Amino acid sequence: MNNKDAESSNLKAWNKEKELIPGMIKKYCKANHSCEEGELCEDCKALTEYALFRLEKCPFKENKPFCSFCKIHCYKPDMREKIKAVMRYSGPRMIFTHPVYAVSHLVQMLKYKKTIEDKRSDR
Ligand SMILES: [Zn+2]
Repeated sequence: MNNKDAESSNLKAWNKEKELIPGMIKKYCKANHSCEEGELCEDCKALTEYALFRLEKCPFKENKPFCSFCKIHCYKPDMREKIKAVMRYSGPRMIFTHPVYAVSHLVQMLKYKKTIEDKRSDR
């Protein structure tokens, strides 16, 4: 695999994530805060804005395969707790609505974790 391909597929994953995050928050809000479909409570609205803002500002968006995983580290503590709850709730459910993406998401996260564990010793 050459570097150019890796870069563009990472960017694609990043763009996909930007579409998926609001959907995941909506799912979570509807189930946990009894909001109507398409409507978010103030908390979840703020969380969506914050998540998209962080994603936009992520300095690694073009060279990292999986943003959600790292992003959780650059969230401020209260937002981090909220997004973790969203991921815990909506993450597994994405397998049913976005099967291909959800699986590759999971695989990429595991790979990314392994990269950290290996401390990039292969480079
Ligand atoms: Zn909510």
